[in-house]
Amino acid sequence: MSSPASAPPDWLAKGARHVWRPYCQMKTAPAPLAVARTEGSRLILEDGRELVDGIASWWTACHGYNHPHIRQAVEAQLARAPHVMFGGLAHEPAYRLASRLAALLPGDLDHVFFAESGSVSVEIAMKMALQFWINRGMSGRTRFLSFLGGYHGDTLATMTICDPEEGMHSLFAGVMPSQHVTALPTDAASEAGLAAYLAENAQEIAAVIVEPRVQGAGGMLFHEDETLRRLRRLADDHDVLLIFDEIFTGFGRTGDLFACEGAGVVPDVITLSKALTGGTLPLSAAVASRKVFDAFWSDDPGAALMHGPTYMGNPLACAAADASLDLFERGDWRADVARIEAALRDGLAPCRGSAGVVDVRVKGAIGVVEFDRQVESGPLCQRFVEAGVWIRPMGKVVYLTPPFVVTDAELATLTGAVRAVLGV
Ligand code: PLP
Repeated sequence: MSSPASAPPDWLAKGARHVWRPYCQMKTAPAPLAVARTEGSRLILEDGRELVDGIASWWTACHGYNHPHIRQAVEAQLARAPHVMFGGLAHEPAYRLASRLAALLPGDLDHVFFAESGSVSVEIAMKMALQFWINRGMSGRTRFLSFLGGYHGDTLATMTICDPEEGMHSLFAGVMPSQHVTALPTDAASEAGLAAYLAENAQEIAAVIVEPRVQGAGGMLFHEDETLRRLRRLADDHDVLLIFDEIFTGFGRTGDLFACEGAGVVPDVITLSKALTGGTLPLSAAVASRKVFDAFWSDDPGAALMHGPTYMGNPLACAAADASLDLFERGDWRADVARIEAALRDGLAPCRGSAGVVDVRVKGAIGVVEFDRQVESGPLCQRFVEAGVWIRPMGKVVYLTPPFVVTDAELATLTGAVRAVLGV
């Protein structure tokens, strides 16, 4: 158990009057924890307390914080060129990263469009899908098919493809055009239902979009790889594009480098972010297959993809991502994810049967305890901090997605804290 050793720093009180925090009722929320530094799987607070980070800063810090290999790569790039615009200019970190991603991704997912955040890469994937049909001379393909439990971002267009109830955005119902959001085809009957829907409506659908294997922010919901194979079949049979949003699942989280690769399904577009830079700098990518890219390859300038964020392909972020890929290529992460999976299974199993708990599930480096109702995140968070861990419950779940370098002792601390807070 750790306790504050000193008063909150001056910058926190001063800045708190001006910083608008995420997902936060600013009037009533307690002050955020002031982080002084990070190391490995730990957050070191300004008051001296140390917390084991159970969620790797929203699933980004896969190799742990301050990894020396990534830090050195960023420092070297900082000395060379921190940023240049991507329009008309090129630099090695981005071009090398694009080649490496194309080589790592399955099938012909070969054409990498960079952006800075996950939501924006999903917007770009949506735009690619819309313009794919326009460029092929087909009008009316303006809608998307997405899934209950899904989360794809907070920007206006991505909100429309999130779960309308669970996706944090129900307040905005009716503001944007509605999409067809339905249940995942998890069995033959629901596949047939979706096939019937597509037989009627495919001519207005640009793409189907899904988070493969795990729907993250919508509730850490798992589905079988067969569901993804069904979606590929449905998309092929009804000639709609298939987009996999691997912003959460990409880079090892489910035990395979990419969920699509593990499932043996190649989407037409994939979105990546979060762990792409090992959790150091903002970067995302929408990676298109040859079929999608070819629809933009033309003598007509009007057929080009008209998108270009200012910080697109930022050299520091790409250098960080290149260094992160070096660490993935070394391969230690596979054993680490297996080790974390086993520890989460053992450590969380006793929560099964505890009051209000309806499910305990683990996949790769993701451990979930689901309750029968929304959990009160604030008070639970506070108790977790008192137990020396950073765990932030979300909706109906308490979940753990630690950095892959988390030690066995730290894993025991994390799962022990969950059991203690649940009283098991
Ligand atoms: N898609 C998925 C699957 C996500 O998990 C997230 C973020 O949690 C996003 C998109 C949005 O990414 P960002 O928060 O970087 O905009």
